[in-house]
Amino acid sequence: MKRPTLLALVCCLLAPAASAQQPSELERETEHLKILWVEGTRPELVDTAASEGERFYASIAQLLGEAPEFKIAVVLQGPSEQPNGERKAPHVDPFGRILLYSYDPSGYSYFSALAHEMVHAFRFARRRTADWFFEEGLAEMVALRVDDSLAGFPWFDYPVDLVAGQWIERGEDIPLQVMRERHRETNMACRAQTYTLRSSFFDYLGRTYGDSVIVAMASREPAGALEDYEDLLGEEFDTLAVEWRQFLVESYRNIPDREVKADRFRTESPIQYIPVCGAEDY
Ligand SMILES: [Zn+2]
Repeated sequence: MKRPTLLALVCCLLAPAASAQQPSELERETEHLKILWVEGTRPELVDTAASEGERFYASIAQLLGEAPEFKIAVVLQGPSEQPNGERKAPHVDPFGRILLYSYDPSGYSYFSALAHEMVHAFRFARRRTADWFFEEGLAEMVALRVDDSLAGFPWFDYPVDLVAGQWIERGEDIPLQVMRERHRETNMACRAQTYTLRSSFFDYLGRTYGDSVIVAMASREPAGALEDYEDLLGEEFDTLAVEWRQFLVESYRNIPDREVKADRFRTESPIQYIPVCGAEDY
């Protein structure tokens, strides 16, 4: 192997200063986004991040009626499974960057959480929030409006009413009040149930009372306060929870071959690898 010459070492020492002036090859800027990726990422995934990212950005800005003043960073981080066996999940980091992970060799699974995480990134510099149950519900409702693919967690290509309804029908649902009051303990630990039931609830609220009412709740400070449900939707949270449950049970029972499809969702989709909480867990 050729030994590095003194000149080469000087060049290396100077390299960081030089690259600060020129965009790195692992970074691309679009109108509203800064896409970053790990080495080895296929170029078409970067193209998809740019095109899907801008598409979601435009729809989210329209729905929320506002957009951040800065470009949102979207980072393609590589496989979810880390060398130590740990599994990483998509999230917005403390700098407001969207970190995405891939779950399949094609890498297209990167984008199943992009719309949801982008809502969090839009609200990164937001005013105070009353609770994370609301922030997650808002992100889920908006994601359902702007991305109708239902690919990836938590739907895995099954319809919302089927996925959420089967928890209730099998007596495995977690009460919304528990999810709201104990978000930290239940959200990730019981994510198979929390992400689907909460999505269905906010989807129902948006469709019944208007998405703009949920967006109005989001713009209050703090956002998502318990009294705002009654103030803006005209019903107390507990009443809305009962209404939604009735709606979901009825919708679920109207799905043809629901039990066969629900069995398939539970035993054949990746949800089979995600733990399901029982009442003893919360
Ligand atoms: Zn979220």
